[in-house]
Amino acid sequence: MDDIAAIDRDHLWHPYTACPAALPPLEVVSASGVRLRLASGRELIDGMSSWWAAIHGYNHPVLNRALAEQTAKMAHVMFGGLTHAPAAELCRRLLALTPPALDKIFFCDSGSVAVEVAIKMAIQYWHGRGRAQKQRLMTVRGGYHGDTFGAMAVCDPIGGMHTLFTDVLAQHVFAPRPESRFGQPWPGQAGPAGDAPSDIAEFTALIAAHHHELAAVILEPIVQGAGGMRMYSAAYLAEVRALCDRYEVLLIADEIATGFGRTGRMFACEHANVVADIVCLGKALTGGYLSMAATLTTAEVADVISSAKPGVFMHGPTFMANPLACAVASASVDLLCQSPWSERVAAIEAQLRRELEPCRHLSGVADVRVLGAIGVVEMDEPVDMGRIQPALVERGVWLRPFGRLIYTMPPYVIDSEDLRQITSAIADVIASQA
Ligand SMILES: *Cc1c(COP(=O)(O)O)cnc(C)c1O
Repeated sequence: MDDIAAIDRDHLWHPYTACPAALPPLEVVSASGVRLRLASGRELIDGMSSWWAAIHGYNHPVLNRALAEQTAKMAHVMFGGLTHAPAAELCRRLLALTPPALDKIFFCDSGSVAVEVAIKMAIQYWHGRGRAQKQRLMTVRGGYHGDTFGAMAVCDPIGGMHTLFTDVLAQHVFAPRPESRFGQPWPGQAGPAGDAPSDIAEFTALIAAHHHELAAVILEPIVQGAGGMRMYSAAYLAEVRALCDRYEVLLIADEIATGFGRTGRMFACEHANVVADIVCLGKALTGGYLSMAATLTTAEVADVISSAKPGVFMHGPTFMANPLACAVASASVDLLCQSPWSERVAAIEAQLRRELEPCRHLSGVADVRVLGAIGVVEMDEPVDMGRIQPALVERGVWLRPFGRLIYTMPPYVIDSEDLRQITSAIADVIASQA
């Protein structure tokens, strides 16, 4: 164990940390259900689903079996010129879950790559239609789309994690972040007839001014995740779709965090009855087992790309459609669909509301937000990780606050007692900081 700590300290990078990390990471030896077991012998209730992914909990027998069975057949084979049942099986399942219009699927390795693929599809589409000047993107502030260069360029340019790279990134068009709140009246609906609703006025002006050079609008539907954990109005998203149609701009919905039930609907676009032209899936796709993502698009986009020069889509990862990842993803989708996931997420939502809402009155708390199986307490000031992380561990829960946010998105299989331990740990550490 000392060995592991020493190797880690001396050699390993962790996400968004210095090397060595300021706060030594905890060693996990195993995980099962909603519990992570540490080398110290302590057990932690997982409130993070390993960043939105482990929706069924850890070490799930059904997912384990799917992996073992596929491993015995073939762990991997290239997807260039070859195909296989695991890819077709996963394809069939995703087609059944997503809107019929989205019937072309590109499998790739990670969320960031799915976003790169989406951006390239949009640019190649307009190129194919003879409108090669349409190659910029538009988005809203407060977004997060990944860490690779194309994805970074559409992350929030100020609050985002990528300000350092601004000068080497493609310059895209940024509208203000939506200020409307999910489930609350759409501001501006009462405005004078013909006026754009106020929350989207600037977005409307920007798309009107730039549409001739825009390939696509990209955003996270309903929930802005790593960019600030904000939940905005479904009416906003519906309006974005209408504006994209009006100005001939594709809509890319980044459902990497929101997909597979997290917000209470299978996909967050369903809250607004919106069908995007390109959709990115990732994170929970394999139930947290392997890195895999998918970019879905329409026959129209695929046909234009495939019939114009150079006649092919210009992307193809080495591990595209990895059979192990496909097999475990299919098993995860089946598990989800056969489970009462929507009741579970609704129950988590109700409990998070009940138990986190009182935090609003604690000193230092700016806001409390809950949607689906996502609960967020926003503080006035950045949280002191050096104090708060050990305090949460002391209370038996695993959470990973960032910036001013203490938040949870637990596995859907969490029971109310374990969830209660998470919410009381949050309330406790906030109350005890004063
Ligand atoms: C996590 C995330 C990504 C990036 O996914 P990776 O698998 O980390 O590359 C992209 N978009 C959204 C909305 C995400 O939450």
